[in-house]
Amino acid sequence: MKAARAKTPRRPALKKPPAPGPKDPVGVYCRVRPLSRQDQECCIEVINETTVQIHPPDGYRVFRNGEYRETQYSFKEVFGTLVVQKDVFDVVAKPLVEDLIRGKNGLLFTYGVTGSGKTHTMTGSPGDGGLLPRCLDMIFNSIGPFQAKRFVFKLDDKNGVDVQCEVDALLERQKRDAMPVPKTPSGNRRQMDPEFADMINVQDHCKVDEVDEDNVYSVFVSYIEIYNNYIYDLLEEAPFELIKPKPPQSKILREDQNHNMYVTGCTEVEVKSTEEAFEVFWKGQKKRRIANTQLNRESSRSHSVFIIKLAQAPLDADGDNVLQEKEQITLSQLSLVDLAGSERTNRTKAEGNRLREAGNINQSLMTLRTCIEVLRENQMYGTNKMVPYRDSKLTHLFKNYFDGEGKVRMIVCVNPKAEDYEESLQVMRFAEMTQEVEVARPVDRPLCGLTPGRRFRNQAFREELARKLEMRGGPVNGETEEQSASEIFLQNFPPLPSCELLDLNDDQTLPKLIEVLEKRHKLRQMLSEEFAKNVLAFKTTLQEFDSSVISKENYIQGKLSEKEKTIAGQKMELERLEKKIKTLEYKIEILEKTATIYEEDKRNLQQELESKSQKLQRQASDKRRLEARLQGMVAETTMKWEKECERRVAAKQLEMQNKLWVKDEKLKQLKAIVTEPKNEKPERPSRERDREKPVQRSVSPSPVPPSSNLITQVPSSQRFVSNPQVHRRSNSCSSISVASCVMEWEQKTPSHKHTGGTSNARSRQQEPEQSRDYNTSDRRRGMCWTGVTEVPRRRDELEIEEDQCCRNAPPVRLRHRRSRSAGERWVDHKPPSNLPTDTVMQPHVPHAITVAAASEKALAKCDKYMLTHQELASDGEIETKLIKGDVFKTRGGGQAVQFTEIETLKQESPTGRKRRSSPSNPDPPEDAADSEWTDVETRCSVAVEMRAGSALGPGYQHHAQPKRRKP
Ligand code: ADP
Ligand code: MG
Repeated sequence: MKAARAKTPRRPALKKPPAPGPKDPVGVYCRVRPLSRQDQECCIEVINETTVQIHPPDGYRVFRNGEYRETQYSFKEVFGTLVVQKDVFDVVAKPLVEDLIRGKNGLLFTYGVTGSGKTHTMTGSPGDGGLLPRCLDMIFNSIGPFQAKRFVFKLDDKNGVDVQCEVDALLERQKRDAMPVPKTPSGNRRQMDPEFADMINVQDHCKVDEVDEDNVYSVFVSYIEIYNNYIYDLLEEAPFELIKPKPPQSKILREDQNHNMYVTGCTEVEVKSTEEAFEVFWKGQKKRRIANTQLNRESSRSHSVFIIKLAQAPLDADGDNVLQEKEQITLSQLSLVDLAGSERTNRTKAEGNRLREAGNINQSLMTLRTCIEVLRENQMYGTNKMVPYRDSKLTHLFKNYFDGEGKVRMIVCVNPKAEDYEESLQVMRFAEMTQEVEVARPVDRPLCGLTPGRRFRNQAFREELARKLEMRGGPVNGETEEQSASEIFLQNFPPLPSCELLDLNDDQTLPKLIEVLEKRHKLRQMLSEEFAKNVLAFKTTLQEFDSSVISKENYIQGKLSEKEKTIAGQKMELERLEKKIKTLEYKIEILEKTATIYEEDKRNLQQELESKSQKLQRQASDKRRLEARLQGMVAETTMKWEKECERRVAAKQLEMQNKLWVKDEKLKQLKAIVTEPKNEKPERPSRERDREKPVQRSVSPSPVPPSSNLITQVPSSQRFVSNPQVHRRSNSCSSISVASCVMEWEQKTPSHKHTGGTSNARSRQQEPEQSRDYNTSDRRRGMCWTGVTEVPRRRDELEIEEDQCCRNAPPVRLRHRRSRSAGERWVDHKPPSNLPTDTVMQPHVPHAITVAAASEKALAKCDKYMLTHQELASDGEIETKLIKGDVFKTRGGGQAVQFTEIETLKQESPTGRKRRSSPSNPDPPEDAADSEWTDVETRCSVAVEMRAGSALGPGYQHHAQPKRRKP
């Protein structure tokens, strides 16, 4: 035994050159099983006959961006949930059985995760036989009448087959029958295991159309299991000990002379019917189940391989017996493989030993995957990488299917349930890749050279002979046939005379006998001559017939080969085109992928663009707002500066006028000195006084106010009243030169003296010195302070004068105050340019005469005056000022207004800027005061007099914020 176990000497490597003939891609089919429960989530749909679509289940995110994507996979054919076993068989397995009977090898395997229906597809379920029983049924339906007697074919232990004569086969049969336990099952359907009886109850009687009837056939089956990378023979007749079961012996793989791999010492059972074959299979199946249970193995982790071998050899020329030539025997095999579950180890929660086993199983499938990948790469890119078949028993066993020739088909089984999504995806990817691998197409075996139709002719001849013999009434049996024929033949001869010699001298009997015998001899000779002649004639006829048949055959063969050549050419063209299609499809796929990527990029860029343009729009609108605000500010500032400029110009003019006036005065004095010496002495002091005053005054009204001065001077109405240090003129006033004023004054002096001389004198006595100075200065300057008579002439003039000397002086007493016994009467001066404000507190003066412009008439009737003045505050709000004053009758009979209060009504925005002109602010900007002044100046056309030292409180300020009004 040791010698037998020794390593096989390595044969010189005679590498078979790669088959140059046509190749076929591995046929990959997909079968989708129905969901086990209706409420299960489904993730696979059959799109059409060749495409399935798989999509991630709910809540499953495939890509980082959370996109939900379906994937489509195309196969040679896709079987939906409603496709029955027969249809799968017809498409996938039938061609393999046809090939098997034509002497070609085939491999069919089912691939998928556990529970996806691999076993259901391969073996079937009770009442619904799978591919395996259907294959067996088709084989036996096809070769049934042409089967050899048992043991005519004998498999050797080197994956070869021998043929033995009928006698040897008979002897072996007898030997087996003599054995106590029958080695092969009975094959009787009635005694079959009810467990599988309905699985092989195939009704369709499928068979191969063209079976070579001049051959005899024998079927051998073997059943192995590959578990944990060990090969076990499931048909081995080893007594199984229930108490302490021995682990089964694993088998090794060898390569035969045709480079096919085989399991050494594997039991191969010759079977003569479907039932018998399936019974053998079932026996192996049972053994597998028992082993799994007893050795605590996971059945889904083993690969089971059922091998059907078909031996065939031609009949001899007579069509009677098998040709006893080994070279004429063809042995083809069909392997049906139910692969282990392709799921990853963690899915089944295998532990310890099982995990290791599972790892190995995965290793086998991984190796299968790698082999397919390398093969594909070699074929696609012309590389010559070594395919690692030897890395696992599974791939090693089927090496020659991929390397050599044969037809390989795979059924990918998938369960559409959502839990299997990831595994199914892996399965689909592998399957799609597998169909890119090509396998050399098996060639037709050569013809044996004997006349076809031998079996039929032999049969027909026998039948005919039997019929004829029957007609003659003779026995149908062959041996007695001959006897009776000779008897019949002898009966036709003349009867022999009696050859009994009666005495010694009998000279009649012998000569008579001799004569009869000679006659018979002659007859026989004649007959044999005729027979020979007939035979010759028949032979020639036969030969002629044969030669005509042969010539016809040759002709047909020629035609056939021609046609075959054309077909081969067309097939090659077809293949080329198919390859081209495949390449183009691959390209299309790549392009589609690229397009998808670009589209995604485009989408992203568009989004970016949109967000940027939005941002830009926002910025533009911001800019517009800012511009508008800036324009407003610019306009405001421009206005302010224009006013400021005007004011400065006016001040400068005043200063220049003052200087001019001083010069004039000096000139006058000089003139007086020159023209009137001595006699005008009484007026001198006054002139000198006057001359001194203007010098003083020229200082006080200094019309070029530094801005800081202004800020402190006119902060609010209170300051306006209590600290009015500003001395200014309106624009209209600026055109009047100081000199002309002096001239005017001088012209008026007589009337002054005339009309108000006494009162003037009286008042001078009454008033304090400062007050007198004040009035004098007024008079000197010819302003319209004291007489209404001047008012009409200087209607456009406004002068607010304040002298330092007047500040502490009591109010002017020169003017008459109206009696208030009849109640106060108001002149409500509202310039028409005022805008209505929506303030809640509207000023209302009862019994007032409302005027749009200052009117002397109205002033004469009233004793109170109020000017409503509006201006734009620095914060952009309208500020309304009610400038109030008392009306006095002047000595000259005119009216004078003495302003006493300023009431400010102002609106504020709750969200607006901080008011700079708020009364609490001690330093309001100069512009506010400025505009107050300028506007008052322009609007008030009557004389205004400030009551110097007025102790009136600040004007009321109404703060309201209902609306922000646009100026
Ligand atoms: P696997 O061999 O892949 O582990 P099975 O063939 O044992 O899976 O199938 C598991 C179960 O699913 C079995 O009960 C089987 O009857 C059922 N099944 C599988 N495929 C189909 C199908 N196409 N139609 C009906 N039932 C199926
Ligand atoms: Mg299974």
